[in-house]
Order: sequence, then C-alpha cells, then structure tokens
Amino acid sequence: MYDFDEKYCLDVFKRLLDADSTTGCYEAVQEVLCAVLDELGCDYTVLHKGGVIAAAGEGGDPLCVAAHLDDIGLMVRRINADGTLNVCSVGGLYPFYCMGENVRVYTRGGRVYTGTVCRTPNSVHVTEEELRQTPPDYRTNVCVVLDEDVKSAADVRALGVETGDVIALEPRLTVSNGYIKSRFIDDKANAAVVLTAIRAMKAAGTAPSRKTYFYFSMYEEIGHGTSWLPGDVKDMLAVDIAPTGPDQTSDEHKVSIFAKDSRYPYHWAMTNELRQTAIDCGADFAVDIFTPHYGTDADVSLAAGYDIRHAAIGPGTANSHGYERTHIDGLRSTYKLLYAYLTR
Ligand SMILES: [Zn+2]
Repeated sequence: MYDFDEKYCLDVFKRLLDADSTTGCYEAVQEVLCAVLDELGCDYTVLHKGGVIAAAGEGGDPLCVAAHLDDIGLMVRRINADGTLNVCSVGGLYPFYCMGENVRVYTRGGRVYTGTVCRTPNSVHVTEEELRQTPPDYRTNVCVVLDEDVKSAADVRALGVETGDVIALEPRLTVSNGYIKSRFIDDKANAAVVLTAIRAMKAAGTAPSRKTYFYFSMYEEIGHGTSWLPGDVKDMLAVDIAPTGPDQTSDEHKVSIFAKDSRYPYHWAMTNELRQTAIDCGADFAVDIFTPHYGTDADVSLAAGYDIRHAAIGPGTANSHGYERTHIDGLRSTYKLLYAYLTR
C-alpha cells in the first residue's frame, strides 16, 4: 500500500478549483487536468463533448473509475430593469446555499465580470421584515449584483452581459485542523484523490491489475456525465461525495461504500468486493445509502444501457452542494480503498 501524498492531493485539488467549471464550461478545467496528466506521463483521450479518459493496466474485465470535474452554478436568466441579474441554477444549487457568495460572470463574448449573489431587498437594517418573511427564491428575490457602475438593463447589456451567460461561484478553499472546507469538494477533491492514486502507482512502478479507464467527466451535475463509455468496460466505479446527515452512517473521516442511492441499489457483488477490500486493507469505511436526491455517474452509465456492474465510493462530506466540508482522513480513506481495489 502506497502512502497517501496529502500535499500532492491538496495541491491538485486547488489547481482544479482555480479553474471555474460550471457544467457546460469545461475548457479551463480540462486544460488543467491535461497538464496534470502530462506531468504524470499518462496517455489519455479527450472526448468530443468534453471529458478526458486516461488508460492504464492491461487484461481482465476492464474497469472504469469515474470522477467529475463540473461544478454546480448559475446562469443569467434575465437582466432586471435596475441592472441586477435574475438567475437560474445549473445543477442542484439551492438559493440558500449561495447567498452572499462572490461570483464570476462569463459572457459568450469572452469577458469576465465579478459580482455577488444578493437578496432583494438586501439590508437587515432597512428591510428586516421582508428578509425574515420570505425564503430566498431565484425567481422572485435573489439576484446577482455586478461590481460595475450599472443602473439599468441597457448599462448591463453594454458590458456584453446577456441571458445565458454563466456564473461561477467562488470555491473559498480553506484547510483548518485537517478539515477541508470548500465548494466543489464534489467532485474535484475526488478527482484529486484519483490523480494521487495514479501518481502513486507510477512512482511504485506498478499499474492497475486490469485494464482501467480513469474517466474525468464534465456533465455529472446535470445527469449525462458518463452516458457514453468505452465499449469494453465491464465494471464502473464512481468516486463521489458521500453526504453526511442525521440518518447517515457516512463520516468525514471515513470512506463510504454506497449500497444504494435514490436511483438504484448498487451491484451486490461488486459492492461486496469493495467492502471486503476495505476490510483487508484497513480502510476506515461505512456502508451507506443516499436518498431522496442522489445519483452518480455510475447510475448514468447503467441507465444508458451498458452491461456493467456498478459501484460507488467516496469521502463523507457535510453541507453537500453548499459550502462543503470533509476531512483529510476522509480523502486518505478513499485513497486507501481505491488504491487497494485497483491493485488487488
Ligand atoms: Zn458529485
């Protein structure tokens, strides 16, 4: 078992976070990923719709390990008369999870503007009752205020901002006492864990014990990330966050092995293999189920019609789709199980 290179993992996580990648806008993060794969000396294929598959190992029933690099975010729905932006979500971003967040607005003309997600009305000092009485709602009382001197829709249009522009949220990564706090731990932290495992195998002069595709998908948050797979894939392992909560066994210090999500139970035998591997390698794990709103890229491949076994693992993660938190122990446990499963 190769040691978990915590520093490398966090460095790669930060590099991936530094590239905004609201679903659909994958070019910047794909460039970072390809640079990392080049540094690791990996062969890879870039997919036509966005996404990258690196391959390693030979023989056996080919395995696909998937982690996604797209982030939930916002899109300009309409320019309001007062020069603020009415927005809608891209993926499952709820208004209460982005209030007050700093953003970057990407226009189709290639410009980038900064702003903030605000409530309207927006001051506890002068509009306290309105703030108390209405929950935030994108359609009625949430907007993005640009850091520009704009007072009208015409002022905003003159900047080149229009309906359909993409709005990325600041990730705000910080690490304190082993706790990792950031948006988009889902799923850039897991992509970093996968890359750390690839690097460790290279350093050890070893390879996965069977042909393995490392699939970095770009559309998981909207449901078609790995809807296409290489035709010879037999087993699919998604590495994604395991949301914690009152009814969950998931824990930020552990790797969760998914028994079921809101779509399907995971493949019995493959899930049991992962559980046995966790026991054998000493990874601190929990078996958990995720309902009512959770699915992974493994489900997507299965639903697309591939004859595959599917399973999923990942670190316990709090505040999913908000300002998320996990612990370095959770990433280490995920790494440990992934590395042992790849090389078993
Ligand atoms: Zn995810």
